[in-house]
Amino acid sequence: MSTPQPAVETRSMVVARGVRKSYGAHEVIKGVDLEVAPGEVLCLLGPSGSGKSTFLRCINHLEQIDAGWISVDGELVGYREHRGRLYELRDAEIARRRSEIGMVFQQFNLFPHLSVLENLMQAPLRVRREAAGPVRERSLALLDRVGLADKAGAYPRQLSGGQQQRVAIARALAMQPKLMLFDEPTSALDPELVGEVLDVMRGLADDGMTMVVVTHEIGFAREVADTVAFLDGGVVVEAGPPSQVFDAPQHERTRAFLARVL
Ligand code: ADP
Ligand code: MG
Repeated sequence: MSTPQPAVETRSMVVARGVRKSYGAHEVIKGVDLEVAPGEVLCLLGPSGSGKSTFLRCINHLEQIDAGWISVDGELVGYREHRGRLYELRDAEIARRRSEIGMVFQQFNLFPHLSVLENLMQAPLRVRREAAGPVRERSLALLDRVGLADKAGAYPRQLSGGQQQRVAIARALAMQPKLMLFDEPTSALDPELVGEVLDVMRGLADDGMTMVVVTHEIGFAREVADTVAFLDGGVVVEAGPPSQVFDAPQHERTRAFLARVL
């Protein structure tokens, strides 16, 4: 059982306190504390298996945590408060809250049988039951924003990996999320396509989107992150501004990791 605290008094977009998560006997998140203020970018770095994806999944209601608590925009993940008591969320409420968080994966997961524009319009129409006209306008504007205004009628298979990932980002934005989670968004891309996706993400950050980004792109993290957190073995080994973590890492494990990826 998790042990959430009632009444999350915070201005932060994301707060994680003492978060633990096990799969069977294997504890993969071992007491993580992290915080992301509105408009800030948190980059998560760490070796494979350190728990980065699991942590994102916990923020996004895809995993139940075993201890500690997470809040998004002042609401406890998995619970609602009523008259000072906590109640577990029903599926419909979980779905509503998840629809306010955008997530972009290494694999783009576009709907192959839908055009680019239809990919963007799908969730606002089907999940939110919004009117088609405004959704279409918003979607076309988003395609323009990610540099793909001319691809509205194309199908995913006709696009490069970098273009597909930019569509995936635009599709997440079509739900007007208050938080964007990225799980190694450029790891599946050919090197020459990485830059165009990072440019879109940089633009989002500049526009004030709150973002949690799992990435091995140190240059991006150094430039865009407000905070970099280095995870290893399910714990935050160290966290701080990029200049501190990259230029003056305090822990041997961070130094060893950076020596391998830089
Ligand atoms: P990272 O994203 O940092 O590479 P993950 O969060 O994917 O790490 O995984 C952390 C650990 O949890 C790994 O040892 C992985 O094998 C394990 N793990 C992840 N998901 C599951 C699952 N659904 N069932 C069992 N073990 C899992
Ligand atoms: Mg991962």
